[in-house]
Amino acid sequence: MGYEIKELSDGFWKIRDSRGDTAYLIEGERQALLVDTAMDNEPIRPLVSGLTDKPVVLALTHAHIDHMYRCDEFDQVYIHEMDITDWKNGLGRVMRLSYPLFKVKRKRFNADNFVPLHDDSEIDLGGFSVKCLRVSGHTRGSVLFIDSRHRVVLCGDAAGLAMWLFLPYCTDVSTYKQNLEKAEKELLPYENYSFYRGHSEPTGAPPEPLSRQTFTDMHVLCEKLLAGTADLQKIDQLRWLPLFYAKNASAGMVVRKGKIK
Ligand SMILES: [Zn+2]
Repeated sequence: MGYEIKELSDGFWKIRDSRGDTAYLIEGERQALLVDTAMDNEPIRPLVSGLTDKPVVLALTHAHIDHMYRCDEFDQVYIHEMDITDWKNGLGRVMRLSYPLFKVKRKRFNADNFVPLHDDSEIDLGGFSVKCLRVSGHTRGSVLFIDSRHRVVLCGDAAGLAMWLFLPYCTDVSTYKQNLEKAEKELLPYENYSFYRGHSEPTGAPPEPLSRQTFTDMHVLCEKLLAGTADLQKIDQLRWLPLFYAKNASAGMVVRKGKIK
């Protein structure tokens, strides 16, 4: 157990837990932003307080426990309003059921500490702001965080080579496709930024950083899935739920057939 820390540029750190989940720390002039908490049995707050002397606020790319397990160490947790709604309507219960799968201690989170992010939210760190861009799919309230100081986009699980579109409260492929189209346009000014995802990916994945191209590749993959032309490979991830994998260049998706509509 324990974290691995890498300072990728001045005031920007990648923190990786022993399972390969990642969190990122962005330091501004007034405060620092921790994006996700990863999921380790050791607390993360003392670690980030050792990296920066600024007060640290926490924001989540989405409300899944492998991204928020240590969020009870913070008084306030920024989460997109759609994930807060879904959390209260049952996503929270589903997450608590998944503890044995991840082999971590059970805990309850206080939803009163969740502070809603909106589609146009910006978090001012002093000297620059981190912008939020919603890409509904993996969860309805999945967001990217865009940091213009360090020229990075933090994607969480919104896209990558193993994007999951089968858990409760995810969208269908059509909704995800529409959100990707919107994101591709909104990401145009950040064409040269470095894109980081929320997990270490399987062998054979393109090395980080990723780029905006992954969102374009994923958009094309959604079109192929909807047209019935994607090559769907059956995988045995969960015995009780038939899942399929499909891939297009730098984008890949684990999906259940009911979501392909
Ligand atoms: Zn997730």
